[in-house]
Amino acid sequence: MKFVGAHVSASGGVQNAPLNAMAIGAKAFALFTKNQRQWNAKPLSMLDIDEFKINLKTSGILPKYVLPHDSYLINLGHPKEENLEQSREAFMDEIKRCEQLGLEMLNFHPGSHLEKFSKKEKEDIDYITRVENGCLDVIADSMNMAIEKTRDSGVKLVIENTAGQGSNLGYKFEHLAYIIERIKDKSRVGVCLDTCHTFTAGYDLRTKETYTKTMRDFDEIVGFKYLSGMHLNDSKPPLGAKVDRHHSLGMGELGWETFRLIMNDNRMDDIPLILETIDETIWEKEIKDLYSLVGT
Ligand SMILES: [Zn+2]
Ligand SMILES: [Zn+2]
Repeated sequence: MKFVGAHVSASGGVQNAPLNAMAIGAKAFALFTKNQRQWNAKPLSMLDIDEFKINLKTSGILPKYVLPHDSYLINLGHPKEENLEQSREAFMDEIKRCEQLGLEMLNFHPGSHLEKFSKKEKEDIDYITRVENGCLDVIADSMNMAIEKTRDSGVKLVIENTAGQGSNLGYKFEHLAYIIERIKDKSRVGVCLDTCHTFTAGYDLRTKETYTKTMRDFDEIVGFKYLSGMHLNDSKPPLGAKVDRHHSLGMGELGWETFRLIMNDNRMDDIPLILETIDETIWEKEIKDLYSLVGT
């Protein structure tokens, strides 16, 4: 069975998110548990937490179908010690918030090395791989530290694949595998595949053949056992553009066939499938349209 929803607003407080999800017929949702563009947030109050839990019950959505997303400011691979420290602290706070809300996962983008390669360096594959792997090592260290410090929480750290825009890592399945390989407690790590990111990173999903090949590669390199959620987005940029611009389903370069294939793929059963499409006024319709594809 599929559990489709959207990244809903938590404005006015986290407790509003489950109600916003319910209002669009979602069976899953994502949210920010704090303002995603600010470092500091006041701690969740007992009242917020209680209300969130009550509203989640009312919505009928189980905690395992909620996929909180961390702040965009956090970079667990930051090359500067001071900034890395700030990111690691903020990440810990995000995990704590998930735990307080009774949630089981935290979705995040792996991180960026922030280097601007010269033309000569760009041609030196070995050099680029060295820089990228160095950053992936730092990301894995950050995750291991967070896992160690939150041993009782059990919140799963769900790495999202990226489009590879700028110096963002996680655009190759090998990056995800590289990180996972270095995580000591593998029960605490998962992966979220974003269809737009996958496609603009260079993995085609538009036809039965290309979808099958991409998912086979994912299974061989990362493994479906780590797939803990998906972001369902169409893409404005073309295949391999390495640019992260979402579009409404069926209106971008991917088209409906990709989403029909996903809705009929039982490897995506029982995990949150989250829309981050650009027009929230049609989320309710997009969810309905996705469910209507089951069995077609
Ligand atoms: Zn995403
Ligand atoms: Zn994106």
